[in-house]
Amino acid sequence: MDYIVPLLFLAVANHLIVYGFILIYKSKKVRRVYNLDATQDQLDEELNNSFLTSPLHAVLIGAALFSGALKAVPTTWFNFIYTFVIVFVWTEIWHYFSHRAMHHRSLLFIHRLHHESKITNPISSISFSFLEKFIFSVGIIGLVAAISHFIPISFYGIYAYYLFYFVTNVIGHSNIEIRKPGYAQTWIGRIINTPTYHAMHHARYVKNYGLITSTLDRLFNTMWEDYDKVQSRAASDQPLSKLSERLTPKKNFYEKWGQSKSGGHHSINEN
Ligand SMILES: [Zn+2]
Ligand SMILES: [Zn+2]
Repeated sequence: MDYIVPLLFLAVANHLIVYGFILIYKSKKVRRVYNLDATQDQLDEELNNSFLTSPLHAVLIGAALFSGALKAVPTTWFNFIYTFVIVFVWTEIWHYFSHRAMHHRSLLFIHRLHHESKITNPISSISFSFLEKFIFSVGIIGLVAAISHFIPISFYGIYAYYLFYFVTNVIGHSNIEIRKPGYAQTWIGRIINTPTYHAMHHARYVKNYGLITSTLDRLFNTMWEDYDKVQSRAASDQPLSKLSERLTPKKNFYEKWGQSKSGGHHSINEN
């Protein structure tokens, strides 16, 4: 019963974070990724899509707890931190593979609604079909519930992850670049994405499937090869002006030859 009030807050937290973000950034000078605006119709539709799905995470955590599927122990700093890390790492893996699967023709009906937002804005971060958010959260909570019977799991570690996810997801859909030019080529930038990464996924529909990290996209060759160039452009306050715009790097002779011979074969430099 100790968890009811925090769960009620979690059910509304995503909307509060989205509107808090809009208020904070309204008056600030920002560097945009795409110099295009979402229409009022898009914003209205995104908001409509969000009411059923945003509270779902809290409902599913509550259901797992109250059914006994998820066993939570009293929180200590130690179990709080490792629970957060477990949820973070597993969500990156689960999101990458389920997201890629939902881009398959046979499963696209689950994910299509989210892709109606070609140009993202903070409200796009809560615009999903019910089934998509259900699959996302059941995958996360299901694994954590299973391991909670072997490893002590902190409810607040899971809780903190969800708040962190709400914040990073609204930033990821903000269509503004928050890092310096060249960030995507630094060691940390090769792991942690900037908002440009997901803006490109929405504008181009495919590739850049990762949530907060790009590691699995790099591993499976599903990252847009001009991500670092688009990131630097956006960070230099030179946004792209068309959804179809590409900043594909120039290929050297051997790469060109390799591509034409094998048709679609990717060079090692693209990893
Ligand atoms: Zn997608
Ligand atoms: Zn998205």
